[in-house]
Amino acid sequence: MLTQKPKGTNDLFPPEVFLWEEIERKFREVCRRFGYQEIRTPIFEHTELFERGVGETTDIVEKEMYTFLDKAGRSITLRPEGTAAVIRAYVEAKKYADPGPAKYFYIGPMFRYDKPQAGRLRQFHQLGVEILGSDEPMVDAEVILMALEFYREIGLNDVELRLNSVGCPECRKSLREKLIEYFEERKDELCDLCKARLNRNPLRILDCKNESCQKIAQNAPTPLSELCPDCREHFTEVRKYLDLAQVKYVIDPFLVRGLDYYTKTAFEFVVPEIGAQSSIGGGGRYNGLIREIGGPDQPGIGFALGEERTILALKRKSEEIFVPVPDLFVCLLGEEAREYGFPLINELRRLNLWVETDYQGKSLKAQLKAANRLKAKAALIIGEEELKSGRFILRDLETGEQVELSRDELIKKYAKERGKDNA
Ligand SMILES: [Zn+2]
Ligand SMILES: [Zn+2]
Repeated sequence: MLTQKPKGTNDLFPPEVFLWEEIERKFREVCRRFGYQEIRTPIFEHTELFERGVGETTDIVEKEMYTFLDKAGRSITLRPEGTAAVIRAYVEAKKYADPGPAKYFYIGPMFRYDKPQAGRLRQFHQLGVEILGSDEPMVDAEVILMALEFYREIGLNDVELRLNSVGCPECRKSLREKLIEYFEERKDELCDLCKARLNRNPLRILDCKNESCQKIAQNAPTPLSELCPDCREHFTEVRKYLDLAQVKYVIDPFLVRGLDYYTKTAFEFVVPEIGAQSSIGGGGRYNGLIREIGGPDQPGIGFALGEERTILALKRKSEEIFVPVPDLFVCLLGEEAREYGFPLINELRRLNLWVETDYQGKSLKAQLKAANRLKAKAALIIGEEELKSGRFILRDLETGEQVELSRDELIKKYAKERGKDNA
């Protein structure tokens, strides 16, 4: 066990990790454009937060949480999702008193004790946003558009948007009764899980993956068919804004999402070719949640995108990963060269260059071999001769061309190139 990672976790090595960096960089970039700022909350919270903020009848809270007692006997849980903690922080710091809406994004690991499979780990990673303090349909449409802009930015142009409205507590009251009545008559054909759900959370039966349950659900009343006038109007407006931005979507009346706190707009992003786990992200509106967590009666909406699944979807298109390479490999031959080269390398690195060197006093041949193995763009050779003459050989490792330069000329050359890069 000593040299084995826990089940459902992953180690990330280069070059894979470059892909993660790139995706996170682009996510930050899109967030900036839409005016969202980063929030960082703890990895663990009081268990009660998730019981209240995710919902006690959800799979997450019932089966999947990493919960333990700390040394003082408090019940602590590793966060299974991002929204509850963001709202807890928002309420605790009384940010709701600021002129809103508040727009946050987060990136980080989440934890669920789930059956590990492709793209689903026990420690997994999410990119998420929350916008708190507005019920405007334009906000819903913008949040969805933002996720799609991110997907477009990383090269996922074929993400399908599934859209639904799950209504408000008002319209769900009558829906709940109708659902219980409908499924009660067909109880024998439901899976055991749904039989148990029937009276506590009948809505969840609509998105049960069991074949028999799905068949029965086909003709069941849905949130969409039972919307109150206010929710219906809201949904029409959301669709209007999506249409204005030419966003395509599929209405999915069975999309209810796993979490209890969703109201009105619910959505999911799907990439068909990655198998059973085709959903790569999703979100929705949660107008009752801020109050549930002890804040004022403010509305909110957000999404969370699975980083592992996004990467699975990307790899289905191309296995190639952009791998950065050193700008320069400095070959140091002899102790004197090392003493001369050590501060020079630092000066070059200050120009924002990736500079590699040899630490072991290898032969020139071995150092050049190392430079080639790293795919360094160029090699600089510093030996006895070069120290005496003050002229150094800079070899372009792609073309094989080489030039002789003084130390000053070398620094100037790279400073000029970097200047162009930054322009
Ligand atoms: Zn309603
Ligand atoms: Zn079922």
